[in-house]
Amino acid sequence: MSLGYPIDLHTHSLRSDGALSPTELVRRAASRGVRIQALSDHDTLAGIAEAVAVGDELGVRIIPATELNTESEWGDAHVLGYFVDPADGALAERLSGLRENRGRRIELMVERLNRLGYAIALARVLEIAQGGALGRPHLAEALREKGYVRTYDEAFATLIAKDSPAYVARVGLTPLEAVALIRDHGGVPALAHPGTVIGLEDLLPKLVAAGLAGIECYYAEHSPATTARCLALARTHSLVPTGGSDFHGRGEHGAPLGGTFVPPESIPALEARRGRNAAATMAPAVGGGS
Ligand code: AMP
Ligand code: FE
Ligand code: FE
Ligand code: ZN
Repeated sequence: MSLGYPIDLHTHSLRSDGALSPTELVRRAASRGVRIQALSDHDTLAGIAEAVAVGDELGVRIIPATELNTESEWGDAHVLGYFVDPADGALAERLSGLRENRGRRIELMVERLNRLGYAIALARVLEIAQGGALGRPHLAEALREKGYVRTYDEAFATLIAKDSPAYVARVGLTPLEAVALIRDHGGVPALAHPGTVIGLEDLLPKLVAAGLAGIECYYAEHSPATTARCLALARTHSLVPTGGSDFHGRGEHGAPLGGTFVPPESIPALEARRGRNAAATMAPAVGGGS
């Protein structure tokens, strides 16, 4: 008997803000019965080759992916890009620019923490990240190991979440730009954890027009009502309902690997949405409304 579901379309390694190397991550997923796994590190494809190599050994199919966080009035709108090409140099260049923005933002947050009396060294944050795309989880670890907070989650709750004292907004893509970026590079964009979006019903048609193909209906932090709402939106907008754990291996955030149901038919459905110019043609305007 396996411990979870056989598909996981949302996982992070220490190439971004996860705690495990791609090798450890795929091994752990395999041991839990996962057979299809998307490695979706933030703003990087650096872990894909290693994950694919381990996946080949263990019988886990790795779907190359990335997760683009955005900054806009739409709240936390994160775009997963599936079937992106790790050999796409132009995409790598764009992601590298996004990682530079991440680095500058974390520097600003370290300065802010220092001014607030939390003696966190940027050098230590970089060590914790081990070369991965920098993010607030690395700050949370630095705060925890210095004893300023008891847990990783407490760091977010008290200091570094939006509206907390040390928070600095990101300079980055809008949700529409993120969808377009994935589409322009032949990937298949899906909206991650839609429950964190502000104004989902208004944003979604715009994203669909830009080429959005999927929506992460199944997510550990969704209430049954949120899941139902997302499934209804998927039907309305002809989007593929997807799901994933968002496993990072840090704190309480996300689910265990393979811990979230993912419809098996979502894999061929996402594959069928590959292609650069699929936007606009796939979802006919609904009703006659807006
Ligand atoms: P950043 O990319 O620097 O904005 O950090 C966002 C990341 O922090 C997310 O991808 C999660 O890994 C993590 N995260 C965000 N909010 C929380 C939270 N409330 N508790 C724990 N981890 C969080
Ligand atoms: Fe993350
Ligand atoms: Fe996310
Ligand atoms: Zn994620």
